[in-house]
Amino acid sequence: MRDRAEERVRRVRDRVAERDLDGLLVTQLANVRYLTGFTGSAGLLVVLHHETIFLTDFRYEIQVGSEIPSEIRTEVVRADTWDRLKSVLKENSSARRLGFESGSTTVVERSKLTEIFAAVDWVPVEDLVEDLRASKCPEEVESIRRAAQLCSEALEATLPTVGVGRREIDIAAYLERELRVRGSEWHPFQTIVASGPRAALPHARTSERAIAAGDLLLLDFGAQLDGYCADLTRTYVVGARATEKQKIVYDLVRTAQLNALAGIRAGMSGRDADSLARKVIESQGYGELFGHSLGHGLGLEVHEAPRLSKANDSPLPENAVVTIEPGIYQAGWGGVRIEDDIVLRSEGCELLSDGNNEMVEIM
Ligand code: ZN
Ligand code: ZN
Repeated sequence: MRDRAEERVRRVRDRVAERDLDGLLVTQLANVRYLTGFTGSAGLLVVLHHETIFLTDFRYEIQVGSEIPSEIRTEVVRADTWDRLKSVLKENSSARRLGFESGSTTVVERSKLTEIFAAVDWVPVEDLVEDLRASKCPEEVESIRRAAQLCSEALEATLPTVGVGRREIDIAAYLERELRVRGSEWHPFQTIVASGPRAALPHARTSERAIAAGDLLLLDFGAQLDGYCADLTRTYVVGARATEKQKIVYDLVRTAQLNALAGIRAGMSGRDADSLARKVIESQGYGELFGHSLGHGLGLEVHEAPRLSKANDSPLPENAVVTIEPGIYQAGWGGVRIEDDIVLRSEGCELLSDGNNEMVEIM
């Protein structure tokens, strides 16, 4: 990604100029990583018209040498990074109107900006870098494809250990180990293993509940490679043949997912994409039980732009990577969700995960 940094910073600079700003202070770490390649957990980036400056601390002194491209002026600060930022901005006294990332700046940081940089007019900026990140370059797509493949392999290794009497937490532990030994850098979110009625909780916390015969078992987990996340959900029936209702609900979720995969393309709105699956579920009277949106962008963060939701009227960008994850949840009964990862093209989509959405009974 190092060779992409220059082009990315240039695009930020163009957008900064369009907004009549003299520069942008980038504090959101995924945005910092996207623009510089820096993988550490503390650093500030200042993009000015004529210069880009990256400030970090002693812990990252060694790694910045290999991560940050030479065209970015890098300083390893041994005292307070914000104090150093103040001097840097003083040196660039023509930078009077600067953007800051309002979505990721805390109230404390916001007042610090006013307090120590009184001469600067701070303008809240939302989603400037995030919007650039939404459309992926081929290397980014490949990283997510490999992460999704890693998810499939870890799941395949885990399934033989799933059965009646096993606890959710045991399955999560096994799965997480399989993800890590295959090279996943970290779990991009808390692994969800939810069984029986707990599968009705879309964001269930994995518990010590033991699986009972005939339970639905929902696994939602991710992998991360080169910083890029994949996100996969599969739902199984364990220890018995599926009941009529389990089959009906599963088939409906699967049909909704297939309809979305067949109809989605770049250029349509997030709302229209969401409706591809929603109308299938609504047509059978289950609309009220599909209470979340169809999907979200994937990248350096597991939830990022664009959103496939009723609230998003904007066209979906070409080469955005998103999840397609319809679900039906009924309190006391359980839930079914099927989630795959795709990349959007103008003519349709390409699957990055395995798309194994057939019902499986684990006996
Ligand atoms: Zn997920
Ligand atoms: Zn997801």
